[in-house]
Amino acid sequence: MSQHHKHNDIHWLTGQFFDSSNETQYRDSIGERVRFESRLALIVASAVFAMFGISDYNLLGFTREYYLLLTMRIVVVSSCLALAFIIGRRGGYSRSVWLHALPLWIFAAGIILIVPLRPDSFSTQVTSTVVAIMAFYLLIPNLLTVAAIASVSLSIGFLWAAIIYVGISPAVTLRIGLLLVMANIVGYCALLRVEFLQRQQFTLLNEERDQNRQLQTEIAHRKSLEDQLRMVAEHDALTGVNSRGHFMKRAEALLQRSQLEKPPFCLFMIDIDHFKDVNDTWGHTCGDRVLTKVADVCRHSLRPTDIIGRFGGEEFVVALPNTDSINAQAVAERLKENVAALILDGEMSDLRLSVTIGIAVANADDDLDALITRADNMLYVGKRDGRNQVVMLS
Ligand code: GH3
Ligand code: MG
Ligand code: MG
Repeated sequence: MSQHHKHNDIHWLTGQFFDSSNETQYRDSIGERVRFESRLALIVASAVFAMFGISDYNLLGFTREYYLLLTMRIVVVSSCLALAFIIGRRGGYSRSVWLHALPLWIFAAGIILIVPLRPDSFSTQVTSTVVAIMAFYLLIPNLLTVAAIASVSLSIGFLWAAIIYVGISPAVTLRIGLLLVMANIVGYCALLRVEFLQRQQFTLLNEERDQNRQLQTEIAHRKSLEDQLRMVAEHDALTGVNSRGHFMKRAEALLQRSQLEKPPFCLFMIDIDHFKDVNDTWGHTCGDRVLTKVADVCRHSLRPTDIIGRFGGEEFVVALPNTDSINAQAVAERLKENVAALILDGEMSDLRLSVTIGIAVANADDDLDALITRADNMLYVGKRDGRNQVVMLS
């Protein structure tokens, strides 16, 4: 039958989820509240039940019936208090529904037992029974089925005791019977409504939680996409050094900082000599490999604080913060040597590479573009004068 119902459908008669695992989850979720409220409700109910011992005395005095009633009340109250304690410790409907049902049955038995022991006060007992039925449904937390079975049993037992021990007439039986039926219907409908509302709320909460979780996943996914995008935008795909745009941004910041705080700042413009020949001789793929190798050499020849960018096809640009012209010259020479010493494997093992490097030293009022133009001019001078050299304005 449950196959025809959706995960969150609620049974119209029992007020429980059709889906048993969903029902278990719901019961687990309210477990703590049920323990607390059950304990409180049972303590209050026990206190009320004990207090009626006073009216026993008013009606009966110290008679045999009074002592029997007193004993009965002590048994009911102490066992319900013990149950309240146990439920407070490890109650909850997911595992021990019967534990919550037990106090209702004990109270019901107590209420029915009053009838033969105090037949004179029968009319007030009708009222207390109706109140007890309402309490069963609405005050002592229980599943609707548990509360209904206990309340109906109490009603039948009470009516039966009234017929046997009080000898009420058929007309009175009918009247009281109707009254008890009404009380049961009202209690039943009220608790059914509560069961529905609570489960609907549980469903909504779960949906919201699911949506939140999806949103979190989505956010994480987007964040990783964003990281990837930034990675792609900021780095050159072939060589892994900074892209031109990103280099400009970082170098600009370094230049400004160096002009404010740590003045010497140099810039290299590096161009691979006769790179076109590599492409023409071995093809574009080999040309790409050479570019990657030269970028690696650059990286290893510089300090971690220097930043490298791919400026164009086979041109690299380097910003060297905190570096004066003498140091820059030495670094550039070393870089040039390292490129010259580079031996490629495979078919290009005979290839000897060289680079020409133009250096510009920053003045106090230089901007990055001016610096790049100067380095570029020096590079041009180096190319013109035979390549494979480092050139700096002297
Ligand atoms: P020069 O010594 O004057 O610098 O000579 P050159 O051949 O290096 O200079 P030129 O600027 O004429 O040639 C650069 C070549 O670099 C042209 C282009 O085909 C090649 N190139 C540019 N980008 C890439 C790339 O990403 N991969 C490869 N394989 N080649 C590239
Ligand atoms: Mg070149
Ligand atoms: Mg070039």
